[in-house]
Amino acid sequence: MKNSIDDFVSFTAIRMKSCTQCGEMLPATNEYFYKSKHTRDGLRWECKECVSKKDRERYKKRRGNYHHLINLLT
Ligand SMILES: [Zn+2]
Repeated sequence: MKNSIDDFVSFTAIRMKSCTQCGEMLPATNEYFYKSKHTRDGLRWECKECVSKKDRERYKKRRGNYHHLINLLT
């Protein structure tokens, strides 16, 4: 019994934060958000998933025009 109360307390103690990219409500912890020195809560505005998605797109763009050409040809 005591355990479930403890679980409840720790659950409600978690602050939630919505990602500015996907709008998902996620716990405002380092598990879901990367750390940042520039925000008040010390976490970035976008969730980890959105940050890695953006990084992947940036990587794709850097390899750039070559892929664009292939897309045009196929
Ligand atoms: Zn997100």
